[in-house]
Amino acid sequence: MPEKPELSIVVPVYNEAGCLLEFYRRLSGTLNSLGLVYEIIMVDDGSGDGSLEIISRLNAAEPRVKALSFSRNFGHMIALSAGLDFAQGAAVITLDADLQHPPELIPKLVAKWRAGGQVVNTIRKESRGAGFLKNVTASFFYRLINRIAGLSLPANAADYRLLDRRAVDSLKQIRERSRFLRGLTRWIGFRQEFVEFEADRRFAGATKYSLGRMISFAVDGITSFSAFPLRLAAYLGLVTAFFSFLYIIYALYIRIFTRQAIEGWASVLTAVLFIGGVQLIFLGVIGEYLSRIYDETKQRPLYIIDKQIGL
Ligand code: UDP
Ligand code: MG
Repeated sequence: MPEKPELSIVVPVYNEAGCLLEFYRRLSGTLNSLGLVYEIIMVDDGSGDGSLEIISRLNAAEPRVKALSFSRNFGHMIALSAGLDFAQGAAVITLDADLQHPPELIPKLVAKWRAGGQVVNTIRKESRGAGFLKNVTASFFYRLINRIAGLSLPANAADYRLLDRRAVDSLKQIRERSRFLRGLTRWIGFRQEFVEFEADRRFAGATKYSLGRMISFAVDGITSFSAFPLRLAAYLGLVTAFFSFLYIIYALYIRIFTRQAIEGWASVLTAVLFIGGVQLIFLGVIGEYLSRIYDETKQRPLYIIDKQIGL
């Protein structure tokens, strides 16, 4: 019977065949120098490029490498969550397979954990390889979500973190489907620590986050932590109603006390189109929340596992 691991490493893998061997070489080098009993859980998120074959070869050579393979692509956040469900360690570290999260940082995370940190977050010092646009939109997004959800997330937070067993067990209780882990790992509380690191460029392959996926990631984050967008309609409605009331008084005054006629199909049309546009936008906002309620009520499992290796 193998010893129970002290440290579990959870790695989401989606078409990372070009990265896996180098990733494993650097990761195992660091882990072996730590002198802890560890396990590595690779979560294959429906890869179609032979990533799983590479992982099973790694497992044949080193049984501490274990794997979970989804029946299809379920997404980064779900892959991380599945890894947490299976991890046995007293602490769990999650990091990406593309070597943007340097494994050499692990001893620092472990040191913070030993010093009492229960959630050890990492912050990118500068994102080499991330474009100007990505940096600007990210900083705007974090300012917005912190403001309306009261989260205080740092703008360069990464999904590279250590979680103590208590934090993992708390996260495992959260079964909602929109899983914005950067928010959830703050939301659970516990003693939070921070470590800075310099993100590298991706070792091989291309990013799996297209612009569309990035936007839906941002919308997920906001809708799962705040109802402010819904309330905004009410605020805007109040302001509009207030100004229309003033305008009614003005129109009545002109009609009753002067001989002037109020001009205006252009202003009527503008007002109608403006209000119509605003209403459609807020119908969309309501739709976003509604579709999430719909998704949650279906109560489908978060993921479906096809194969398990060594677990
Ligand atoms: N990933 C995943 N499922 C997905 C998309 C990504 O498991 O649907 C994994 C991917 O293999 C990588 C990590 O999540 O290990 C981060 O993805 P990526 O590097 O493409 O994102 P970026 O660093 O560009 O934001
Ligand atoms: Mg990456």
